[in-house]
Amino acid sequence: MKLVVLGLSLSSAWGNGHAVTFRALLSAFADRGHEVVFLERETPWYAAHRDVSDPHYCRLDFYSDLQDLERFADEVRSADAVLVGSYVPEGIEVGRWARRTATGVVAFYDIDTPVTLARLAQDDCDYLRADQIANYDIYFSFTGGAMLERLERDHGAPAARALYCSADPEAYRPQAAAPRWDLSYLGTYSPDRQPTLERLLLEPARRMPDRRFVVAGPQYPDDIDWPENVERIDHLPPADHPAFYAASRFTLNVTRADMRAAGHSPSIRLFEAGSCGCPIISDAWPGIETLFTPGEEILLADDAETVIEALSAPVDQARAMGEAARRRILSEHTPSHRAHTLERELIAALRAKTKDRPMKSISDTRTVLVAGGAGFLGSHLCDRLLAEGRHVVCLDNLQTGDLANLKDAMKQPRFEFVRHDIVDPLPERITARRFDRIYDLACAASPPQYQQDPEHTMLTCILGVRNLLQLAEKTGARLLLTSTSEVYGDPEVHPQPETYRGNVNPIGPRACYDEGKRAAETLVFDYDRAGRAEVRVARIFNTYGPRLSAADGRVVSNLITQALSDAPITIYGDGSQSRSFCYVDDMIGGLIALMEHEGPQPGPINLGNPVELTVSELVEVILDLTGSGSGIVHRPLPADDPRRRRPDIAKADAVLDWRPTTALLDGLRRTINWFDADRPIVVSDRPALSA
Ligand code: NAD
Ligand code: UDP
Repeated sequence: MKLVVLGLSLSSAWGNGHAVTFRALLSAFADRGHEVVFLERETPWYAAHRDVSDPHYCRLDFYSDLQDLERFADEVRSADAVLVGSYVPEGIEVGRWARRTATGVVAFYDIDTPVTLARLAQDDCDYLRADQIANYDIYFSFTGGAMLERLERDHGAPAARALYCSADPEAYRPQAAAPRWDLSYLGTYSPDRQPTLERLLLEPARRMPDRRFVVAGPQYPDDIDWPENVERIDHLPPADHPAFYAASRFTLNVTRADMRAAGHSPSIRLFEAGSCGCPIISDAWPGIETLFTPGEEILLADDAETVIEALSAPVDQARAMGEAARRRILSEHTPSHRAHTLERELIAALRAKTKDRPMKSISDTRTVLVAGGAGFLGSHLCDRLLAEGRHVVCLDNLQTGDLANLKDAMKQPRFEFVRHDIVDPLPERITARRFDRIYDLACAASPPQYQQDPEHTMLTCILGVRNLLQLAEKTGARLLLTSTSEVYGDPEVHPQPETYRGNVNPIGPRACYDEGKRAAETLVFDYDRAGRAEVRVARIFNTYGPRLSAADGRVVSNLITQALSDAPITIYGDGSQSRSFCYVDDMIGGLIALMEHEGPQPGPINLGNPVELTVSELVEVILDLTGSGSGIVHRPLPADDPRRRRPDIAKADAVLDWRPTTALLDGLRRTINWFDADRPIVVSDRPALSA
């Protein structure tokens, strides 16, 4: 989906906690395949202290005032969701404008809920009016628990939801370090926290003179009577926090009075320390037990005695508590969990908004996993399945795929994108789901691309396919493997029927793909023989159409982009080698027909267009269709480049009643039009490895 955020700041973390929160949340949200735009009000303070100017996960733009915000009206109108943050300058007006302009969900994100409600009660809140709350579709809040009920009951929020801060477990991880302190505390001085710090750190320090303590943070008044064994660090840069926690046997968490009174308001430090595996002693407040299990993952203390007892207990006990805290963070409190919550709630609100529009209900559509769904064929398949009313989950590592291919799919609430490499164990978000169908299209298909990291290509075909087969076995889904005509290698039988066993060079540069796909077929049919999963195998022959990546080096995309830009046409070898080209729409129809074929296992089935032509003939057709004046250059023939290829599709015809219907000239015209439509031309003549 497309999300536009109107927040206090993303560009500067100076003097505000909002930027750190937005950066973690939005980067994880974008990782889930969403488009994010952040609009920040230009202010002299943040402009002078920018520490991020070009975030990789979103587009960051600035506006000078409300009038200038109008420049982004189309952006907001086209968004699926708009999120307005607390403390945004002139936030009341900004919120009203967002409400008037947006067509999707409009939500408020309160990073300061107790402060907001206190200010609303005194009628001095300049970023939110009490009567605006009911107009936001969702009220996301840094504070959970009873505060959410209050927002819904007293202020009429249609849906108030907790969206806590979190820690990045990659940045905040355990480090090996000799313990320097028995108990540490990290925090800026605040008068309301000082009595607790006195009780839970300074008093134990006085009573345990042989133990070492540290307080890190600025603004402590000069008149504090620090015991001898309490070290002071005035400023500890964030980059040093993990090392600080690693050197602490325990760390202390002390909560601001308003947050403690509200309850359910974890500070970011709590998550950072837990993520570093540092055993935490915390003051107690309502709701902390919903985040960490007291006694196992965190120790709650009200008095010095409890702290002294903990510091006197065996070291292993504390270590186990720190490890348990980190496990809890990894399973529930990472930015990716928060992004998931945001996505879930926005989708629920979008559905509620669109419920009167004609759309199949979510519950009665079957869920399909498309691995490799951001690629050329995969994205067309996602679109077709969505059009058929399916719920589609696309899994892709974006190695050769492109989110732009999923632009339309992303707009559908029945579509989800998960970025993941199938070589790695599948994420819980996938394994915990039920799927009816799994299409495996995850594998680079263009020779220069699959040869770029041959080991990864091989592992994708073996470990990746195994991971998906195991998911199929667990969830009872039918799995379709997209195999390839390359399993026939440089064929000695022409055209190639499924019974032909092929002529593949097992040690050549194409072998990672050819042999990888052969091994994948072996694995798939072994699962089938053992009754572990229901499977289908398509052997796809050269396919072309819109969304071929201009830079991927395959013949059709190369020739069209070269012809359109009058660049030299690259023919590898003498151009007498042949291929048979199938238009993408035909291929997608064939894949779905094969997947939905009922009855006994049909074995592998060739899918392709049997009209065969040489590369030189293809060049002539494309030059003719584009009217290009390009000349021709010959390049060395890549190693093991098959001399000829043409599918025998008698089996597809008989078993699936399938045959391609798009004539080559029509398909090429549509493809050329797509490449020609205001697209920047990328000419690639990066050939596959030659002999
Ligand atoms: P593509 O390169 O456009 O798409 C492949 C997709 O898989 C990409 O989105 C890529 O990012 C993703 N991917 C690659 N490795 C992955 C991994 N380890 N984990 C997760 N995602 C991964 O290629 P395509 O032409 O769309 O081909 C799709 C499938 O069809 C492939 O299995 C290919 O072998 C098969 N095939 C295609 C053709 C053809 O002519 N297009 C011919 C024969 C076989
Ligand atoms: N080819 C070519 N010029 C190019 C790209 C490819 O002559 O710019 C040839 C390539 O050598 C092969 C055929 O076109 O004989 C098809 O190549 P592609 O990479 O599209 O797929 P393949 O069928 O070889 O996997």
